[in-house]
Amino acid sequence: MKIKTRFAPSPTGFLHIGGARTAFYSWLFARHHGGEFILRIEDTDLERSTPQAINAIIDSMKWLKIDWDHGPYFQTKHFARYNYIINHMLKNGSAYKCYCSEKRLEELRQNQMINGKKPRYDGRCRNSYENHLSNDPYVVRFRNPQEGSVIFNDLIRGTIQYSNTELDDLIIRRTEGTPTYNFCVVVDDLDMKITHVIRGEDHINNTPRQINILKALGAPIPKYAHVSMIMGYDGKNLSKRHGAVGVMQYRDDGFLPEALLNYLVRLGWSYGNQEIFSLDEMKKLFNLEAISKSASSFDSKKLLWYNHVYIKNLPIDYITKNLFWHMKHQGIDMSIGPPLTDLVKLFRERCKTLKEMASNCYYFYQDFREFETKAAKTYLLPEATKPLQIVREKLSSLNNWTKESVHDVIKQTADELQVKIEKVSMPLRVAVTGTSQSPTIDMTILAIGKLRSLKRINMALNFIAKYPI
Ligand code: GLU
Repeated sequence: MKIKTRFAPSPTGFLHIGGARTAFYSWLFARHHGGEFILRIEDTDLERSTPQAINAIIDSMKWLKIDWDHGPYFQTKHFARYNYIINHMLKNGSAYKCYCSEKRLEELRQNQMINGKKPRYDGRCRNSYENHLSNDPYVVRFRNPQEGSVIFNDLIRGTIQYSNTELDDLIIRRTEGTPTYNFCVVVDDLDMKITHVIRGEDHINNTPRQINILKALGAPIPKYAHVSMIMGYDGKNLSKRHGAVGVMQYRDDGFLPEALLNYLVRLGWSYGNQEIFSLDEMKKLFNLEAISKSASSFDSKKLLWYNHVYIKNLPIDYITKNLFWHMKHQGIDMSIGPPLTDLVKLFRERCKTLKEMASNCYYFYQDFREFETKAAKTYLLPEATKPLQIVREKLSSLNNWTKESVHDVIKQTADELQVKIEKVSMPLRVAVTGTSQSPTIDMTILAIGKLRSLKRINMALNFIAKYPI
């Protein structure tokens, strides 16, 4: 049997971290078994679905490299198919027309609540269609079995049982003729020959209803796996407040898709104590049995840790390609300056995100007008004049522009003036970078280049001369 899974988002907002994890688990499960993975957009809620959300879902999946073998399918394009099945069910009696008015249903609900009962349809139209004309508006309801129970073996949670008396006759087509959510899911899972439905635990209540409809259609029942929710650090539903944002925002914030996927796979799944998994390892090792039954808690620090691990360890060229995107995104003109690869080498130990790396890299390509106030106040003092002048002279006559020769210039200057090396390197750092933090000063100067470094040392000397503190 070929394993077939699907990710079936409702496009009512950006793809959030929970949705991305569900998609990834479904994808991993299919890939692990050499099966197929389908992307199905559940856009039947016409009021809440938006094209922006559809794009955000597709862009996010592409950025994460969660590829699909079929789709994207759009449920709104399959109304004819859903209606065909509903008509068939009306004929064979597994569904019926219900003419109860909104008013009657509301009264029924109120009465049940007053009497402490769970609100549910009382089945008035199940067997009789009294008191209505044939063109009265009606909905179509599924004729849910009234006895027995639905039992299914959730691959994460074990046996789950619902008594049929808890399930009322679900509306499968609204008055205006549109099929409802649970029904479309059933028809699509059947038509797409889905073998494993992996989805959020918020859908557990839908499962017995969907199984009953599948049974009525004589369809095979897929296996179900309901993944627990992701909570914030405070145990509340995950939101922006906890640092969780839409998937594309993670790209903009400088995360690598590999890091996010590794974080997501570990958020609720484990393989011993192993933390870092290559994609191949994930595909090889992933299984539903090791998914945790309890809710996971989102930890933005841990995600940052993963990102740093990947920034440090993925091939330089790959990081450079991604950093290039951020440099462009930040509007940094890279036409004059060092090869970006050199900067990745310089910065990848220090920066946890590519966004941070890009903003640290700007002074290698672009001049700045001002020195950071605090750095200037601390280091661009009159006592820095002499060291900066000597360094300037030595650098300008340097023919051999290497890390060692630049280092020697700084060392010799300190020796000549009989001061500690920091008395030279710190003002120099502020002079050439505008800030007091940078990778090693010799490497930094080397990458900034001779002309730019000299120009900036002049600027620093002017600054000191103009604003003696
Ligand atoms: N469309 C549903 C959602 O976005 C998922 C339905 C399913 O996976 O069965 O929550």
